[in-house]
Amino acid sequence: MFTIKGKTCDWELVIGLETHIQVLSNSKVFSGASADYNPSVSPNTQVSMIDAGMPGMLPVLNKHCVEQVIKFGLGINAEISRTSRFARKQYFYPDLPQGYQISQPADEAPIVGRGWIEIMGDDGKQKKILIERAHLEQDAGKLKHDVHPNKSFADYNRTGVALLEIVTFLDTKNPENNSYISSPDEAERYLREIREIARALGVSKANMEEGSMRADVNVSVRPVGSKEFRTRTETKNMVSFKFIKSAIEYEARRQIEIYENGGTVSQDTMRYHQGEGTTSVMRSKENALDYRYFPDPDLLPLEISDETIERIRSTMPELPSATRARYTHDFGVSEYDAARLTESTDISRWFDTAVNGNDKRAKSIANWMISELFAHPENWDVKNEKSGIVDEMRIITPSDLSELVDMIAANEINGKQAKEIFIKMLDGESGTPHEIADKFGMKQITDTAAIETAVDNVIAANPSQVEQYKSGKVGLLGFFVGNVMKATGGKANPAVVNEILRKKLA
Ligand code: ADP
Ligand code: MG
Repeated sequence: MFTIKGKTCDWELVIGLETHIQVLSNSKVFSGASADYNPSVSPNTQVSMIDAGMPGMLPVLNKHCVEQVIKFGLGINAEISRTSRFARKQYFYPDLPQGYQISQPADEAPIVGRGWIEIMGDDGKQKKILIERAHLEQDAGKLKHDVHPNKSFADYNRTGVALLEIVTFLDTKNPENNSYISSPDEAERYLREIREIARALGVSKANMEEGSMRADVNVSVRPVGSKEFRTRTETKNMVSFKFIKSAIEYEARRQIEIYENGGTVSQDTMRYHQGEGTTSVMRSKENALDYRYFPDPDLLPLEISDETIERIRSTMPELPSATRARYTHDFGVSEYDAARLTESTDISRWFDTAVNGNDKRAKSIANWMISELFAHPENWDVKNEKSGIVDEMRIITPSDLSELVDMIAANEINGKQAKEIFIKMLDGESGTPHEIADKFGMKQITDTAAIETAVDNVIAANPSQVEQYKSGKVGLLGFFVGNVMKATGGKANPAVVNEILRKKLA
């Protein structure tokens, strides 16, 4: 368990995330205007009268956005509400021309109800993070304060673009139910999992750098073993994994210090300062906004039929949690490795292509990918946050790796030679593993006669070590193996060498 050592005791973290992802759709959620607001589009060119908040305009719910939300809900194992409503959340800010945001009421069933997302916990085991709800709402516009020395500009292209807000659940009635995020790393894995689910389903690009994913971070701390949750703070609008982790840690330490000095934490909304990695109070609970939610009179309650849900369910692709289960059950890959291999669909697709239906090679391919490929970012930038997508394998292809693994299994080369071939491929050597092995004479010697000669020579050259071995120092076997390998230029099959040595030394 992740804990922070305080002066008086160890503290654990309780984290709740409210994640916004932008729903992929050509048009906005309540208007026909284009949902493309990227910076190359001229400001205020994708704004309908509805988005501009003109009096008398009637919003029309975008069916595609609703279907995207249902799809995501099914992807997180959630209940889909057959009826839900939209409400106006009132507040005044220059980025919100309507003067309210159309959202779903906080105290009523949203489209997506209780569900769960599986992540790898800090202990390397799968852990369920409970989801309280996910609801559809509209985004606000963007203010630009940096284009003119004494003017601010508002760009409403993003106004009304569909957002899905996903809120984690904290079982306050059962504080021992640990199905919540409890460390900065788990927060990152949770967000990456949301991203992968959203991408696998085509629901969102969920890219923090692009602004299509952001999160509000709720944090509280409690002494390890304590039976109740304490007051949380909420840090708004976080847009990078790194900052989210830093904000969680800073906020937790700040709260611990308050408690240890005999104070109490107040339920404040915080702002994160990127440069310093610190948080400060943005508004206190006393100044909390009263949004005066009320049902939007222009929108009918949303009814979703069983047929719609089943139709959407039938189009769902395999999701990361199912892929992981397939890897552990069918391939015997460890849970930890399965989690690494499903960090992105590009990685799992690469792995599946390399395995190519041959279960027997799956485990070695997993090992090679995790210990070698992931360790060579020049070949494969796994954590490419910018594109969010793993680059095409630039040098080594799935079929290269399966060929290499098959050569080891067939005793054509040994592990050491395989590594040499691997490095040569990384360095740009052309040809398949077989061709490279041929070119550099890297065939493994399995011919027992040749190995026997080498073994005899090594035994003859080291009489005192033979003496020691025979008098019980069996650990010297490694010494002999090493020498035989050296004598064969690293080409001998180590298993055969071991066997012959053992026999001759006995
Ligand atoms: P609000 O209504 O103020 O938005 P919610 O009850 O909806 O608050 O919770 C928002 C988020 O905060 C949820 O993800 C929830 O799990 C989380 N949360 C609630 N209480 C705590 C707590 N004591 N510590 C950490 N997170 C919490
Ligand atoms: Mg809430």
